[in-house]
Amino acid sequence: MSDAELVLRSTRVITPEGTRAASVAVAGGKITAVLPYDAEVPSGARLEDLGDDVLLPGLVDTHVHVNDPGRTHWEGFWTATRAAAAGGITTLVDMPLNSLPPTTTVDHLRTKQDVAADKAHIDVGFWGGALPDNVKDLRPLHESGVFGFKAFLSPSGVDEFPHLNQDQLAQSLAEIASFGGLLIVHAEDPHHLDAAPQQGGPKYADFLASRPRDAEDTAIAQLIAQAKRLHARVHVLHLSSSDALPLIAEARRDGVRITVETCPHYLTLTAEEVPDGASEFKCCPPIRESANQDLLWQALADGTIDCVVTDHSPSTADLKTDDFATAWGGISGLQLSLAAVWTEARKRGHGLEDVVRWMSARTAELVGLDDRKGAIEAGRDADFAVLAPDETFTVDPAALQHRNRVTAYAGKTLYGVVKSTWLRGERIVADGEFTEPQGQLLSRTP
Ligand SMILES: [Zn+2]
Repeated sequence: MSDAELVLRSTRVITPEGTRAASVAVAGGKITAVLPYDAEVPSGARLEDLGDDVLLPGLVDTHVHVNDPGRTHWEGFWTATRAAAAGGITTLVDMPLNSLPPTTTVDHLRTKQDVAADKAHIDVGFWGGALPDNVKDLRPLHESGVFGFKAFLSPSGVDEFPHLNQDQLAQSLAEIASFGGLLIVHAEDPHHLDAAPQQGGPKYADFLASRPRDAEDTAIAQLIAQAKRLHARVHVLHLSSSDALPLIAEARRDGVRITVETCPHYLTLTAEEVPDGASEFKCCPPIRESANQDLLWQALADGTIDCVVTDHSPSTADLKTDDFATAWGGISGLQLSLAAVWTEARKRGHGLEDVVRWMSARTAELVGLDDRKGAIEAGRDADFAVLAPDETFTVDPAALQHRNRVTAYAGKTLYGVVKSTWLRGERIVADGEFTEPQGQLLSRTP
């Protein structure tokens, strides 16, 4: 252990081989070794004894809308990355829309990187956007280090980010496949949405009926067909409809390169409990019934769903009106995602190892960062969350770090208190106290 500057010791360290008592040696911001619990600490190295608190790899959240620049009153890099750090997240990948400009050209990417550079408390990477008119920008964006491209198949909610029709999807996907890139897709079919009853108003049941499962199922079936035909790699964002799971499983058996994520709100909140007018619960696709939720958990357990990400998509409170049709759709989850998922996971008999696999290892793999992030093992960045998994807290919106303290989790009692978060061997937050931003901007590993 001669090259250690720091040793983190815990009776419960979550490693790829399982949970065990260990001492984790750190030097130069990297994990240098995972050693026996009682390994001798070299002179000159600092020992942090975490007792029985769990040491887990920092979470990698690949679905975050930071909205900066342009809609910084909704969220920004400073506030989003503080909220993330407070919740045990050490890497986020920013979505290309809701900022102005959207990340759809290399110039726009540079603008966003400049804004993020001195505000990031955690590491930040970027997705690019695939629009009807930017096919020529996709390869340059790929070469500039975006992790892949997001497309919508139905209206996105903001005018500057139009959706792709099936021909445009084919065109973008063919281009992205030509350089081995990844397309990530908001999969709801616009024709099924148009055909659904659009009642509007404060009743959650009406909102749910306006975003039916078959809109998701149809869009996913179309995406699978295109991916198969073009031998392209695709990823389904924020899966809510459990009816699509058999399609996805079958596509995998057919050799289609498809991965799938879902979100804490689909796994922990149900349509039955959403009060009328409570648009802090509005997101698209919507939170569905508890029977649907059970099937999402089953799909996580059997591997049909790969990973869990927040889809943190905040707005100002005034846009969260009590009319579900017009209220902003998006749930702010960065700071609470680990606790929310862990609370439900433990109830359903899953271990923290499972949560780490869904929220850190698999998300790091999705974006090709698994050489640096997503596990406690020698050679990876020394990014950690220290968690007291059996302690509870009640969600108080005033304690949240994201800019607009609107939350669907207010008043819930959750298991799992994040005691501290570490980035490249530095403790960046402990007990609500933050260091100055030390996050780095990440690019796709060529
Ligand atoms: Zn999103």
